[in-house]
Amino acid sequence: MNLLIMGPPGAGKGTQAERLIKELDITHISTGDMFRAAIAEGTEMGLKAKEYMDKGELVPDEVVIGMVKDRLQQDDCKKGFLLDGFPRTVEQAKALDKTLKELGIKLDAVINIEVPMEKLMERLTGRRVCKNCGASYHVVFNPPKEEGKCDSSCKGELYQRSDDNEESVSTRLNAYMEKTKPLIDYYSEQGIIKNINGDQEIDKVLADILAAVKS
Ligand code: ADP
Ligand code: AMP
Repeated sequence: MNLLIMGPPGAGKGTQAERLIKELDITHISTGDMFRAAIAEGTEMGLKAKEYMDKGELVPDEVVIGMVKDRLQQDDCKKGFLLDGFPRTVEQAKALDKTLKELGIKLDAVINIEVPMEKLMERLTGRRVCKNCGASYHVVFNPPKEEGKCDSSCKGELYQRSDDNEESVSTRLNAYMEKTKPLIDYYSEQGIIKNINGDQEIDKVLADILAAVKS
């Protein structure tokens, strides 16, 4: 199954992606995670992306599009994939359609997670992420069993992303409204969008997504 998960920053895309890839045995492609890995490795692309990410701005389309095109051609995508955080602009969505056509693959569904905008700041400023596996926690809404440590077998240290501060979050929410939200219409026109209420317990959101993609 080839899926795309979208929604504003903090909607719960990463949280659901972690669970969906296990349930459906598909590959997780998160452009945010790919950029953070490039930053950690100190690559030229990582350094360039960091300038935008720290401010909460989108990385230029041509950088992201090329990166995803390469990633989709790797072997682990053959069993199905879940795109998370891409596309974020109409330009990226058009490029994705073109790439998928060239590769002879189609998207089965676009999961659109809906959460009231006023809830997102609290979700993002309270987010904590595992240094090892990238799992997402929240200090109040989804705390780890042991403070500061990942629940999974990796037992990684939790950290706060440098862009999860109020200023950067505001910029990211504005970028979403202006550049990414129009994609809801774009995919509605293709008839493959599944709107999901993301303002519920994490397990309920997961159940709703699974029911929607299997229907
Ligand atoms: P995204 O990948 O869409 O930016 P995350 O999955 O990282 O968002 O979630 C953002 C924050 O909100 C995290 O701290 C996460 O633990 C929390 N969160 C995710 N889903 C829910 C939910 N259904 N209810 C409350 N908090 C949630
Ligand atoms: P995320 O992990 O999805 O919250 O993304 C973190 C940051 O990475 C964003 O605020 C952007 O700066 C950058 N980024 C991730 N995906 C994209 C994308 N598809 N297009 C442009 N920038 C992106």
